Amino acid sequence: MKLNRRRIITGALASATMPRISAAQFLNAPRHGLPGTLEERYARLDDILRQPVFKHELFKDPVIIESVELLHYKESWLCRVRSKNGHEGLSVGNPLQMPTFYPVLVRQMAPFFVGKDARNLEDLLEAVTVHNSLYKAQGLAIWVPLATIEFAILDMFGKMSNRSIGLLISDKIYNPKINVYQANGERDNSAEEVIEHLQRDLSISYAKAIKFKVGGRMSHIETPPGRSEKLIPLVRKTFGDEMVISADANGSYNVKHAIPIGKLMQEYKYAFFEEPVPFDWYEETRQVADALEIPIAGGEQEPSMHNFRWLVANGALSITQQDMFYFGGMVRCMRVARMAHAFGKQTIPHISDGGLGYVYMMHFVSAIPNSGPYHEFKGFNDTLPYKCPTSTLRSDANGTVTCPTGPGLGVEVDPAYIAKHEPVKA
Ligand SMILES: [Mg+2]
Repeated sequence: MKLNRRRIITGALASATMPRISAAQFLNAPRHGLPGTLEERYARLDDILRQPVFKHELFKDPVIIESVELLHYKESWLCRVRSKNGHEGLSVGNPLQMPTFYPVLVRQMAPFFVGKDARNLEDLLEAVTVHNSLYKAQGLAIWVPLATIEFAILDMFGKMSNRSIGLLISDKIYNPKINVYQANGERDNSAEEVIEHLQRDLSISYAKAIKFKVGGRMSHIETPPGRSEKLIPLVRKTFGDEMVISADANGSYNVKHAIPIGKLMQEYKYAFFEEPVPFDWYEETRQVADALEIPIAGGEQEPSMHNFRWLVANGALSITQQDMFYFGGMVRCMRVARMAHAFGKQTIPHISDGGLGYVYMMHFVSAIPNSGPYHEFKGFNDTLPYKCPTSTLRSDANGTVTCPTGPGLGVEVDPAYIAKHEPVKA
């Protein structure tokens, strides 16, 4: 791949001075001293959780689901929902998770949705988790299949009403364009290699923000030793003062180890510190947040709405990162965004690589008022044949991608490609 020489040189020159700016847009979220008592905060969040998300009122007549099909071809998983009155929606499944979890969709969830009125989407999302006690498998096992079905249903409603997915879960579009940050997911390599790969990827995405990994992924032991302490200053030095930089520990540390890493990030004006301790160490996440000024981000592994309620009410997170697939789709992700927004927190949804995950992420971000300034980007899809008349789905020279505005997903997968897929049998 071609490197952007000018960008590299600019970064090198800028390294002569210490950072002047960096993450002011991230730092506006209050990190300490939430208003009211804990009981009052919970009451406020519970009120938010009772508010509807899906705009049911747009659809006057029943939309009875006739079929929910999962279609498979090589690495591709598509979900197709059809209604009895002839409407159809399609979603692109997560190619990394579906090979493991597709039986939940085909055997457990699809039969549940057939015959139901899709306008009751929010009730159905709740009820399906109780159906056959599926809640016992809470985590990727139920939320990835459910998100896949939800996205197809929303695509269908979008086509019926000529609205983008964002306008089915929000009164307005807050963010028609999305700024991306370039994520580097590597560990076990040298600091210099990470720098080189970030430079290569930035020459494609033109992102004005970057993120890389520190620690050892759920382990304090990293390879080579001292990699994180070397990378934190070196990334700043290489990319200069203007670059917005964050780092993700993927739960690598305990509180004692996370705090000095966080302080080093503060020294080099980092934007946020992601998952400093294991994601379900809720008290410890709050302890790290209390000890640092840098915003703490997290939630990509979190499967539970009630736990997000705790994380927001207790001030453990400044930035919520619910995953579009791993947390079960747009409606559930919107509930978390609303809780975060109520206390001045930002939302930067997590999305894993593959499929059209970044398009679902963009529709969600388009619909939330408390979006962070930059959003996760791991690569464009160059293998799926599709048409998108309202967006190039590429980032421009400012590292900005336009969210599609066409009906539903706003992306039409090539019918000839869909036809290559086979329905997956229960
Ligand atoms: Mg992460």
